[in-house]
Amino acid sequence: MKGSMIVANENYYGVNVEKLAASLEGEVEFVGFTSLDIQGAGWRPVVLFHAKNPNRAKGHKDYVFLFGVISADDFIATGNKDDIKTKFYISGRNENEIQEERYQHGVYCTECKTVLHSVHRHDYKLCGCSNETMVDGGQDYLRFGGLDLNKVKPVTIDILTGKAKIKRVTRHAKKS
Ligand SMILES: [Zn+2]
Repeated sequence: MKGSMIVANENYYGVNVEKLAASLEGEVEFVGFTSLDIQGAGWRPVVLFHAKNPNRAKGHKDYVFLFGVISADDFIATGNKDDIKTKFYISGRNENEIQEERYQHGVYCTECKTVLHSVHRHDYKLCGCSNETMVDGGQDYLRFGGLDLNKVKPVTIDILTGKAKIKRVTRHAKKS
């Protein structure tokens, strides 16, 4: 495998990252559009930032993230998220707390060299090339496919770096 495999981190939320960052206290840097396990709400799509100098006195954590309140199916299909205060919840994770959620599953299309990460139970991702590699199910279950399954490799994604590694043990695609 040449080079590193980077997750296709498309902004399909229609989120204004700069505006979100500016709305947060302290200096933050954007990490990615990813998925976290929200207690009581399951795996949800989140916009994840790293706090450069978290204000511990105020209980601020190393990572701060925002997630939607639109519906159980979240904000994947919704448009403009400018109204931050009414559209998002804000929460955080410390370095040690995020470790459990850090490595997530996805698939890699060897045809177009794209890593796909499903960030919600109903987040169906398609690579866009002739192999039609797809992944679905978020982190609840891994469902994937493609015209030629030999070109579809399950991967482990490090959400903090956006890099992916092919899993040594491959799983079979589940029928839903
Ligand atoms: Zn592809």
